Amino acid sequence: MKYDKDKIKEDLSIQQVYDLVTFLGGNPCMDKNEKFFISETICHNHVGEGSHKLYYYDNTKLFRCFTECEPSTFDIFELVRKVKTIEENIELSLFEAIVFVVKFFNIQIENAEKFEDNEMLQDWKTLNKYSKIINEIQDIPNNPPSLLITKFYDEKILAHLPQPRIIPWEEDGIPYETIKRYGIKYDPSNQCIVIPHYDINGKLIGIRGRTLIKEEEEFGKYKPLFLNQTLYNHPLGLSLYNLNNSKNNIKEGKRAIIFESEKSCMRYYTEFGADADISCAVCGSSFTNAQAELLMSLDVKYIDIAFDKQFEDINSNEGKRWCNKLREINKKFSPFVQVEFIFDKWNLLGYKESPIDRDKNTFLELFNRRIIL
Ligand SMILES: [Zn+2]
Repeated sequence: MKYDKDKIKEDLSIQQVYDLVTFLGGNPCMDKNEKFFISETICHNHVGEGSHKLYYYDNTKLFRCFTECEPSTFDIFELVRKVKTIEENIELSLFEAIVFVVKFFNIQIENAEKFEDNEMLQDWKTLNKYSKIINEIQDIPNNPPSLLITKFYDEKILAHLPQPRIIPWEEDGIPYETIKRYGIKYDPSNQCIVIPHYDINGKLIGIRGRTLIKEEEEFGKYKPLFLNQTLYNHPLGLSLYNLNNSKNNIKEGKRAIIFESEKSCMRYYTEFGADADISCAVCGSSFTNAQAELLMSLDVKYIDIAFDKQFEDINSNEGKRWCNKLREINKKFSPFVQVEFIFDKWNLLGYKESPIDRDKNTFLELFNRRIIL
């Protein structure tokens, strides 16, 4: 089997590219058929300053910038290079951009003899054997500087925001007591629910806002908060929500439950209490290498993937895509930990529901029936 940059690109699902663009700060918005998404123009603007004019099309695996970029069409590697230049003033070679993408998704490159791509011969000059390239990738330290969160925010901003009861969330099973524990606030100027994100050590790394304006939802229900001229964004793929609260229990029990959304952690806490909280959330739908490394640092032996039920019929295309995604996660992490899936084969949950959305018993039932691939 030959592997090259086009193969890596072809193999990326639109959801993966979406997650990477989210990570880069593009605040993307997915088309409902998942054929394309629209991002802010991080290709030529600083994060938070562009408009939604950068399109990504799954059929061509290419981006198209509808305002300034020349050439206007480019691939994911080129986008990574552009963003690194704008945001960090770093000129990545194409090779380095590929390594970045490979590392981001922890793409396994197996049975590959060599990279076959003429364009890249320059970069490969010293790396003519593919095995060497694999070593090169593995030689990158676990937490390379470019994959560490280095930007922290001042918590003072939160102190000024009100903390009202949130009735729609109470109806979803998240009472006021939980709201207080998680420091959930309300931002009247943006009309959104404010969700602070902390790193494992409890430092404020970002704030997400859940809009309550219906018309805004089509641009994404959750977005980084923009308040007082500051965008409180952070790379979602580099942290796990709630780990600051659950890390000791996870370490002790050697087990972590991984949800998709912040609200699922809040539901879990509500049902099981602080002493039993072993939950965290990826806040996207990818489970990244960096997130797995965070859990490994707590010596976990078991990880329970409890993602939202992203299908109505398991045999539909959507169902198959979802299963493939879980298989990928399994392939990627099962050499290191026992990966278990809380997977609703029995239709105990509705479409897009999280395993914890119903009640404690439904969750425990699904947990007891968890699947090891
Ligand atoms: Zn552009």
